[in-house]
Amino acid sequence: MKYIGAHVSASGGVENAVLRSVEIGANAFALFTKNQRQWKAPPLKADTIEKFKRFCKVHHFSADHILPHDSYLINLGNPDAENLTKSREAFIDEMQRCDQLGLKLLNFHPGSHLNQITEKECLARIAESINIAHVAVPNVIAVIENTAGQGSNLGWRFEHLAEIIEQVEDKSRVGVCLDTCHLFSAGYDISSLETSENTFSEFDRIVGFPYLKGMHINGSKTALGSRVDRHHTLREGTIGTEVFKFIMNSAHFDNIPLILETIEPEIWAEEIKFLRSLEQI
Ligand SMILES: [Zn+2]
Ligand SMILES: [Zn+2]
Repeated sequence: MKYIGAHVSASGGVENAVLRSVEIGANAFALFTKNQRQWKAPPLKADTIEKFKRFCKVHHFSADHILPHDSYLINLGNPDAENLTKSREAFIDEMQRCDQLGLKLLNFHPGSHLNQITEKECLARIAESINIAHVAVPNVIAVIENTAGQGSNLGWRFEHLAEIIEQVEDKSRVGVCLDTCHLFSAGYDISSLETSENTFSEFDRIVGFPYLKGMHINGSKTALGSRVDRHHTLREGTIGTEVFKFIMNSAHFDNIPLILETIEPEIWAEEIKFLRSLEQI
């Protein structure tokens, strides 16, 4: 079964993300559990936690299909010792918030070397950051997102994801989220059924489908291999829609959250219906 939703707003409290997802006909969702542009946030209130859990239960959202995203400020591969510590502390806080909400996954962009350390050193730091977070918070899975490879961001090659995973001690608590926009921007052709098949086979060979814990389902405004991250709606943009047909008809994408981060929230309900219409069962 396919679980589809969007990265909905949590303004007014994380429990509102659940209600917004119901409104658009979703059976999965993503959210920020704090303001994503600030380092610190007040702790979640007991009342908020209770409401979030209750709303999820009432509306049948399972933690397997909810994919919280961490703050954009966090860089788990930061070359600077002080900034690295700050990022690690903030990431642990994010994991704790997920745990408090009864959530199992935390999606994050791996990190950037900022042209100060090598790729290898940066990937090792990211893995070490995950190991530290695992010790601090016992239940949440660190879900590494592939990136578009903009600037000095790592994680745009499948090999980067594999190299991080290889250095994570508890492999049962590390996973991957693939973003279709980022795949395409990073140079992975997914513009036809055939090229999608090739790209995802390559993913399986280098990383492995057992690690796939979620997908970001986006169109792109930029060309194949542009290394520029600009999302678009599903039916416009440079990728086309064949990859969405591929995803909707492959069992590899069953039972994981398929999350829209497309640019027009007003049409999310329609985009979810569109994805469902591609299922050929
Ligand atoms: Zn994404
Ligand atoms: Zn993006």
